[in-house]
Amino acid sequence: MDKLIYPWHQFDWQHLCAYIEQDRIPQALLITGYKGLAKHALALRYTQALLCTDNSSVEACRQCDSCHLFLADTHPDFIRLQPEEEGKSIGIDAVRAIINKLSLKPQYSGYRVVLIQPADKMTISSANAFLKCLEEPPERTVFLLLTETMQTLPATILSRCQKIILSVPEAKVVLPWLKEQGVTEQVELLLNLAQGSPLLAVEYARDKVMELRSSCFDDWNKVALLGACPITLADKWHKQSLGQLLQWLTLWTEDVVKCTFLVEPALLYNKDLTKPLQLLAKRVNRNLLFKFYDLLLKDSYRIKGQLNKQLLFEELLITWSQVAKGK
Ligand SMILES: [Zn+2]
Repeated sequence: MDKLIYPWHQFDWQHLCAYIEQDRIPQALLITGYKGLAKHALALRYTQALLCTDNSSVEACRQCDSCHLFLADTHPDFIRLQPEEEGKSIGIDAVRAIINKLSLKPQYSGYRVVLIQPADKMTISSANAFLKCLEEPPERTVFLLLTETMQTLPATILSRCQKIILSVPEAKVVLPWLKEQGVTEQVELLLNLAQGSPLLAVEYARDKVMELRSSCFDDWNKVALLGACPITLADKWHKQSLGQLLQWLTLWTEDVVKCTFLVEPALLYNKDLTKPLQLLAKRVNRNLLFKFYDLLLKDSYRIKGQLNKQLLFEELLITWSQVAKGK
């Protein structure tokens, strides 16, 4: 639990410190923002500060019994509510178990913290049960809710939470940090592809994602320009991360649209691909390109449900293969 301090949290951390300094801790606090902004670390830093029993500073002392328990991840007054498996829902039984625990007093003299992550994974019945906790708050208990999609939480819960909305940090704050993490090649491009999200940029660098992206782009390009078979490519792609591929396709397509309007290369997301993107823009039919883009947006929404990846890629790539032919 060491790595809780990130330079882009500075402003929001001051906001949280002010709650502690002024002794007006919100009973429910929602921290929201894109993936890769280290929301969880910010929540843990705040939790540690709330649990720490040394009041000489806002920041946790890391020396008291409470801090030791927290650092060992065994603090009895720190409770996590999360899905049993990643991607699954937070069921009502889990919420009821927490409500039972909360009927007892906190074991230490400080606050008790319940961390709910991802809060948007509560089912409707879980959220209703949880709402009762907010309406009849247990003693010295703080609820921290984390989510990437605040809009999917029930309004009844949202209206009872104070909110910390993490924004995408400025590159001048993130670039030096990325260098410290050992990310030294194509740093700005990686950050651009991660849409400004620092932890995602590190993940991309570590997983050699740029090489994969390059080879996917070549394949996609060949379908449009050289008549490569869309079904064969769909078969190759269906084993890969759907969310990531759809994100790349969306950014490439947005760039091709921009190139059809002859925008400056500096305004493209994929500056390293400027030449092939400009070439594509010369060969595509703009109406069919928009049709392909609509399908991408629809698919980006559809991936939240159950679907057949192979069929999705086939439909996408067949549509894409016609975009260039149509001109
Ligand atoms: Zn402490």
